[in-house]
Amino acid sequence: MYLIILGPPGAGKGTQSILIAEKMGLKHLSTGEILRKAVTDGTPLGLKAKEVMDSGNLVSDEIMVGIIKDAISDDIARKGFILDGFPRTIEQARELDKIMDSLGYNSAKVINITLDDEELVRRMLGRGRKDDTEETIKNRLKVYKDQTAPVKEHYSSKSAVFDIYGIGSISEINDKILEVLQ
Ligand code: AMP
Repeated sequence: MYLIILGPPGAGKGTQSILIAEKMGLKHLSTGEILRKAVTDGTPLGLKAKEVMDSGNLVSDEIMVGIIKDAISDDIARKGFILDGFPRTIEQARELDKIMDSLGYNSAKVINITLDDEELVRRMLGRGRKDDTEETIKNRLKVYKDQTAPVKEHYSSKSAVFDIYGIGSISEINDKILEVLQ
């Protein structure tokens, strides 16, 4: 099974992805985690991405598509994966379609977590990540609305898209997601 988890920053995509991956035996692929590791390790990718991430903007499509292509072609991911943080633009979604086709993978199912801005900001401020300052949060929400929210429409015509309202405990939301995937 191939899954994509969409939703605004702070909606709980990371937490839910880890749980779903564990329960369904999928590889969890988080582009944010891959980039944060590159920053910590001081790799050329990390050096390039750091400033962009700190401002809440998006790393280029070209770089991100390269990363995801390598990640999903890997043997471990071949058996099933959940993409967390990708695609974040229509262009990334189009490129992902091409990569999935060329690898002969079934189309991915999409989980779309929704949440009110107020709650998103509250959660992000409580997380204490380096890019969770008030100013960066504002920009990340704007970037989400402008560039990432339309990605849902890219899938609604051709994939199963499940909307999940993200208010509730971690396990309640997780149950809701597992239920729609049955
Ligand atoms: P996340 O952990 O998913 O919130 O990602 C943290 C940051 O990494 C984002 O604010 C972006 O700067 C960058 N990033 C992660 N995934 C992508 C992507 N698919 N496209 C562009 N930038 C990304």
